[in-house]
Amino acid sequence: MMRKQIVAGNWKMNTNYPEALDLVTNILNESKNIPDQVALYVAPPFVYLSDVYKILKDSAVKVGGQNCSWEKSGAYTGEISASMLKSVGCSFVILGHSERRKHFNEDGTILSKKIEQALENHLQPVFCCGEQLDEREAGKQKEVVENQLEEVVFLLSKEQFQKIIIAYEPVWAIGTGRTASPEQAQEMHAFIRKLVTNKYGDDVAKGLSILYGGSCKPANAMELFAQEDVDGGLIGGASLKADDFIAIARSF
Ligand code: PEP
Repeated sequence: MMRKQIVAGNWKMNTNYPEALDLVTNILNESKNIPDQVALYVAPPFVYLSDVYKILKDSAVKVGGQNCSWEKSGAYTGEISASMLKSVGCSFVILGHSERRKHFNEDGTILSKKIEQALENHLQPVFCCGEQLDEREAGKQKEVVENQLEEVVFLLSKEQFQKIIIAYEPVWAIGTGRTASPEQAQEMHAFIRKLVTNKYGDDVAKGLSILYGGSCKPANAMELFAQEDVDGGLIGGASLKADDFIAIARSF
C-alpha cells in the first residue's frame, strides 16, 4: 500500500512529568515490536514536548503538539505557536480535535489559519473531523464531515493537501467506550477518500492516510484496521498505557 499506516497517541491533559517520561520510555522500548510499515506518533502536553523529544530523537517515533496557535507570534498570552513546536522537535500537530471545537469554539476560520501556520512551519497537520451523536441519528454524518473538510482542508492547494493526515473521529465515540463499528468507520473513510478523489484526483486520495479515532483499543483495533480505507488510529485513552498503545500498533 502506498499510504502510511499510523498509530497516533493523543495524551490530552493527562500525565505529570515523571509519568510522561515513563510512558514515553516504555513506548520507545516496546516500539521495536511493531511492524516496520507502521509509524508511531505521540502528542504529549506542551510542557513535556522538549524532554519527550530528547528521549525519542534517535527513534522513528514522531512527537507532535495537540494544538497550535493561529498566529505567528506576539501578544497572545498563553498561546503556543507552530514555530515553537517545530523548534522543540515536533513534526506534526493535531488540529480541529472535537474537544478544541467544543471547549474553545474552534471553527473553520480559525482552523484554516492554524493549518496555514502548521504548514508554513513544516509541521504535518493531523486534521480531525467527525459528527455528533444527534447528527448521526439524523443521518447527517456525511454532510457534517463534508462541510468540515470543505471549510478547511479543501481550501488547500494540492501540494499542501498532500502533507496532511485526516482523522475521522465520531464525537459520540470519543472517550465514551462506544466505538464505531468497522462498517461505520469504513463507510465514512471511503466517503472521505471519494471526496478527496473528486477534489484532488486519485493519486492524492490513494496516498492520504485516514485514521479512525474514538474508543479504539487493543480489543477492537484489528477489525477496524482491517478495513480497506482505515489506515490507522488516533488514540486517546488507550495511548496512556504503553502496552495498549503498542498492542494497537501491532493490530494491522
Ligand atoms: C481522541 O481524543 O482523539 C480519542 C480518540 O479518544 P479516545 O480514544 O479516548 O476515545
